[in-house]
Amino acid sequence: MRALLIPCLVSAGLAVAASAAAAQTVKITPLGSHEGEFCRYDRAMVLEDPNGTRVLYDAGRTVRGPKDPRLGNIDAVLLSHAHGDHLGDRHQPSAGAGTCASPDFSVLVVPVSNTVLITVEKKAKLVVGAEMASFFAKKVAAAGGEASQVQLARYGGMRDVGGVKIYSVPAVHSNGLNPAFLEGAYAEALKEAGLTAYLGPPGGYVLEFTNGLTVYLSGDTGHTAEQDAVVRRRFGAELVVMNIGGIFTTGPVEAAFVINELVKPKAVIASHANEEATSGGKLKPGTNTAAFTEATSVPVYVPLSGRTMEFDGAGSCTAGCS
Ligand SMILES: [Zn+2]
Repeated sequence: MRALLIPCLVSAGLAVAASAAAAQTVKITPLGSHEGEFCRYDRAMVLEDPNGTRVLYDAGRTVRGPKDPRLGNIDAVLLSHAHGDHLGDRHQPSAGAGTCASPDFSVLVVPVSNTVLITVEKKAKLVVGAEMASFFAKKVAAAGGEASQVQLARYGGMRDVGGVKIYSVPAVHSNGLNPAFLEGAYAEALKEAGLTAYLGPPGGYVLEFTNGLTVYLSGDTGHTAEQDAVVRRRFGAELVVMNIGGIFTTGPVEAAFVINELVKPKAVIASHANEEATSGGKLKPGTNTAAFTEATSVPVYVPLSGRTMEFDGAGSCTAGCS
């Protein structure tokens, strides 16, 4: 009797612990160019685990340098690929500078980059794939950090930062480095020829949080078979942050196909819409974001800058979603 009772009590205890963990929330805060809006170049988000670990995804141009007070502590910086609007060739001088449709990004930070400056200031890990680790290790060291802050995770690989598991998954896009991030004769020769430097393929990420929530960060991508085979079948991502802008990535209808037919999450946050998607915090009709929302069969949340959304372990939004 007792032999039976103890395993029952242990499994009941584990079930209670698992449900308590699932009730805790991951906090996701977009760091865009204009408070309370979703604007043309908005990409950056901070994802915070219930244990306090904070992950910055694609700093881009809207994080106003490493001293931006919205950053707080950052434990891991993610960079899906090295294009200037993700790596950060320049940034906004102050909150709300310029317009939502055309933000002011007049602070140049090449050749170092916004991403590297933030990594150094925060003493964070910078988790990158492809051929990017050796390049960024030199960049981070030259900017006053430690080369060991840069951690490689190629497709299928994983890095654990503060209990958050960060997996690397493929993206179908490009990853050429603009010679503005380089110096010397080599940079001049590339610029003259209209070429970029090779850094290997771009990527996306799957994050597993300690409350059980699994989030797919698409990066810039078209359709990929791995969205079905890996992101859904292997990881079962409940929440997706999906790039929807078109031309450079899947547009709103194609991105909706990815959500409805390939990944099949519980909910999605739109990203990288390349437009003034909201006015007064309300979604504007006729936008890519509105078209994506209409074509998608699960709840679509608009990432309003500075507005924190909270998700439980099952991918349900419990606070802050619009
Ligand atoms: Zn890109």
